[in-house]
Amino acid sequence: MKTIKEALIEAAEKLRGDKPPAPADPFNPGEFPFAVQPGHNRIGFKVCPRCGKPPTMTGNPRLPEAFLFRDSLSATEYQISGLCQSCQRKVFDYV
Ligand SMILES: [Zn+2]
Repeated sequence: MKTIKEALIEAAEKLRGDKPPAPADPFNPGEFPFAVQPGHNRIGFKVCPRCGKPPTMTGNPRLPEAFLFRDSLSATEYQISGLCQSCQRKVFDYV
């Protein structure tokens, strides 16, 4: 029997189709000052559940991989849905 997490991951893979995941965002702390450790969201997704984007390799030993966000609201949304910055922009339709 599947767990809810496994079912959600399978559903996300179906929604994405067979497209390869988008590349990680380039690390730019000036543009994306808010970083969150991958998997720190309610479902525990380590890649974006919508586009499959992996976390960015930051080169920072304290936080080697991170999802990068432009503000604290986006970082908080990641902790709920696991969506990356560009998917949040598409889903919530802001500029
Ligand atoms: Zn995404």
